[in-house]
Amino acid sequence: MDANQSLALLKEGNARFCANAAKAFDRNKRREELLAGQHPFATILSCSDSRVVPEYVFDTMPGEIFIIRTAGNVAGEVDLGSIEYGTEHLHTPILLVLGHTKCGAVKATCDCRGKGGEGHIASIVKEVDKAAKQKNYENDSSIRCNVECSIQNIRERSKIVNHLEHEGKLKIMGALYHLETGKVEFL
Ligand SMILES: [Zn+2]
Repeated sequence: MDANQSLALLKEGNARFCANAAKAFDRNKRREELLAGQHPFATILSCSDSRVVPEYVFDTMPGEIFIIRTAGNVAGEVDLGSIEYGTEHLHTPILLVLGHTKCGAVKATCDCRGKGGEGHIASIVKEVDKAAKQKNYENDSSIRCNVECSIQNIRERSKIVNHLEHEGKLKIMGALYHLETGKVEFL
């Protein structure tokens, strides 16, 4: 499968989700089918927000998407390792960074102007602040900018992802999930 086919599957799945027409499948049968191994068609870095559920949003079955979720859809060391696993070892032709409207991680960073965050939460704020600062802590534009910054961060820090992209084996895309409508806007 190439990146265009993968993208088409994501778009079709989201259209079914928006139409409340999720495809039915036998969950036990599917689990058994996957005992032989996984061949997901997309790696997705999504926000941990409990309202954003990639398997629902793209109407996928187990074994179809390889997901990393962090608050604010930003990637630290271990997340980059998971992204590299999904893209290089599982050969997904697409890496999608999925932000969403009303993102609490971005809003909190904007509200405290990048100065907040107790404990390890500070490392999320520090990462999201790169985007928030660029957009003068304006919530909606910071959310979009945060997706771009997250992609840039992955490109800068992962030689493996960079290499796959330059070889034409991986397409990296950003998207915004609209909580209000269920629609995914590809950026
Ligand atoms: Zn969020």
